[in-house]
Amino acid sequence: MFMGQLYDAKTGLTKSFNDFHERLRPGPLAGRSNADLVRQRGNTLAEVQSSIVNFKDQVVRLFEDDIAKLAVFLGISPVSAGELPDINFCYRIRFESLFFRSRLIILEESDRMLGALRSMDDSSEHTMALVKGLRSLTRDEASTTIKALNSIITECETRDLKRLEAEIRLTQMFFHILLKELGADSDLNVEPSLLRTLSLCQTYPDTAGVLLPTYDAIKLALIGERRHGNLYTRASTRIWWSWPAHKVGNLKACVHGHQFSASTWPGCPECGREVPQSPKPEPADPKKFLKEDAFVAAMRTQTFNAASYRT
Ligand SMILES: [Zn+2]
Repeated sequence: MFMGQLYDAKTGLTKSFNDFHERLRPGPLAGRSNADLVRQRGNTLAEVQSSIVNFKDQVVRLFEDDIAKLAVFLGISPVSAGELPDINFCYRIRFESLFFRSRLIILEESDRMLGALRSMDDSSEHTMALVKGLRSLTRDEASTTIKALNSIITECETRDLKRLEAEIRLTQMFFHILLKELGADSDLNVEPSLLRTLSLCQTYPDTAGVLLPTYDAIKLALIGERRHGNLYTRASTRIWWSWPAHKVGNLKACVHGHQFSASTWPGCPECGREVPQSPKPEPADPKKFLKEDAFVAAMRTQTFNAASYRT
C-alpha cells in the first residue's frame, strides 16, 4: 500500500516538473508565488510519510515488542549475547527503510527544484533566499539521514538481514550522492560500504542480489557518468509488492528466525541461496569511486528538466 503511494508520488513529481518549472517567475513580485510552488511540491509526501511513521510506531513496533515478550515468557526465544533470537522480526526495519526512501524522493525533488530556481538566473532577494534556504534544508537532512541509516545498517548486520542491509546501504549512498551534487561534505565512508554491498549481492544472488543493477547505477553516478541510479527497479520492488500476497497458515521462519510467507516465496526473502565468495577478493582501487572532479563536472553539465532527470 505505502510502496504504491510512494511510487505514484515519485512518478507524479516527474510528470508535473515541467509545469512547475514553467510557473516559476523571476523578480521580487514572484517571490511569494515561487515559495508556495516549492512548498507545495516539498509537502507532496507529507501525508503518506505521516501514515508510515504512525503505522510503524503504533502497530508494527508494538506487535514486535509484544510477540518478543510472549516468546520470552514461553521460553522459546533464548536471547543472549552473541545468539540470535528464535524470532527475528524485520518488519519495523522495513518500515524504517520505507520512511527514508520517501525522504529520498523529496530531497531529490528539492535538488531538482534548486536546479530550476537557479536556471532563472534571478538575483532578486527572494529567489536568492529561497535557493539558500532550500539548499540548506536539503543538505542538513541528507547529512542527518546518513548518520541515522548507520544505526539501522548495524541492526541489519546483527539480525542477519542481508537484502535489507544492501537496500539501506544503497539508500544511504543516494543521500551521499545528493550531498555531492549540492557541493556539500559527506561523512559516508563510501568504499567499504560499496564493497560490503557488492559482497551481499554476490553471496545472496536471489535476495540482496536483485539490487545489483541499482549498485551498478550508483557506481556510475559516483564517477559522474550518470545523474542518478534508481532504487525502484522492477526486481528491487517485487519483494515489497509480494508481502500482501500472504495466505494465512503459511508463515515460516528460516534458520536465522526471519518470518516469511511460504505461500509467497520458496525461501526466506532476506537470506535465500548462499553462494560462497572467494575468501580473498581482489583489492579495490581506492581512487575508483572518488573522482570528484569528474563528478562535479558531470553535475554542472546537467540540464534541469523532467526529461534529463533520469531514474
Ligand atoms: Zn532468513
